[in-house]
Amino acid sequence: MTVYSHSRISSFEQCPLKFKLHYIDEVESEIGEGVEAFLGSRVHDVLEKLYKDLKFEKINTLPELLEFYNSEWEKNWNENILIVRKEYDKENYRQMGERFITDYYNRYKPFDHDKTIGLEMRIVIDINGKKIQGFIDRLASKDGVYEIHDYKTANTLMTQEKADEDRQLALYAIAVKEMFSDCEKVELVWHYLAFDKEIRSTREDEALEELKKEVLKAIESIESAENYPAKESALCDWCEYQPDCPNFRHLFEVEKKTIEEFKDDDGVKLANEYAAWKIKEQKVNEKVKEIRDKIFAFGEQKKVNKVYGSDTAVTIWQKDCVKFPGRTDERHATFVELLKKEGLWDEFTTLDKFKLEKAFENLDIDPEKMQELAKFGKKELIKRLYMRKR
Ligand code: SF4
Repeated sequence: MTVYSHSRISSFEQCPLKFKLHYIDEVESEIGEGVEAFLGSRVHDVLEKLYKDLKFEKINTLPELLEFYNSEWEKNWNENILIVRKEYDKENYRQMGERFITDYYNRYKPFDHDKTIGLEMRIVIDINGKKIQGFIDRLASKDGVYEIHDYKTANTLMTQEKADEDRQLALYAIAVKEMFSDCEKVELVWHYLAFDKEIRSTREDEALEELKKEVLKAIESIESAENYPAKESALCDWCEYQPDCPNFRHLFEVEKKTIEEFKDDDGVKLANEYAAWKIKEQKVNEKVKEIRDKIFAFGEQKKVNKVYGSDTAVTIWQKDCVKFPGRTDERHATFVELLKKEGLWDEFTTLDKFKLEKAFENLDIDPEKMQELAKFGKKELIKRLYMRKR
């Protein structure tokens, strides 16, 4: 039976192909772990040690913790660890970790605000027969309030709005409420170590019930998936499956080539040729527009509707037209109301087929309605080329 987790579900949402390569095909990537993940693991090791030793009445000094951090860093470092941001090196990241630990230590010493219940604590919840597991960095309690602590080493600070919507710790809150009968309230606490900041949130029982429904829906999408398309995003830079991804495989091939081999690669030649012609096409379009404007001006000046060339006649057509408010116009909603009220809506509105097809593809429609719509859908291969600067 599949045991789900927040990261398993998020992976599918982020990129179905990445999900398939990782969880279904279990592909061993040739790219190593990212330095950010490595740094995160080392800082987690230190904070786990800090609280584990506290259970045995041992308070580590800051130098002791930093020594532990540095020795774990060296012991675990390997040359496959990937540094995407080439302007920084291993030493920059190691020092960041030292700062995170130092700030955390100074902020919370002597660490007696609460009682630690568990560290790296595995929790499992059952939602309608679907098992979801997770690991709580640190579970603590004080006066009936349980706190789920999560350490983040990211360089982007989460907003309060995002914290109030976060799924991962909210799922853990469901488990904690079920596990401890004296639990009156659960607080979700994120430690953004790079900013020396704590972000807190809570969830009402109704919100947790709503979350269960959302998670079930997400699992349903995963289980009913037939295709696993690559979904490119800013996170691709950190994806270990780039060599297996159709969006990046060619890049991997050509990066290994010498300059001569690179220039001789069929794909490189075609992409360069395409780019050159697209630039010419753009220039042609600009020229056509320029001449078009001149012909309008000529027509105005000469008071003519047709301009004759050697074997061409260009007709100038112009008319004053009425324009009604479009979707982006603030009067659009009122205008729609008026059309409905006057019984003109059905006659003068057209189906937004593009929007419907997109929602269908993204599974954004109720599954039962999808089944009905599917009877009318016909699969068609659409081919397009998009170009952007590398
Ligand atoms: S590189 Fe991007 S698009 Fe490709 S598998 Fe990874 S996340 Fe998906």
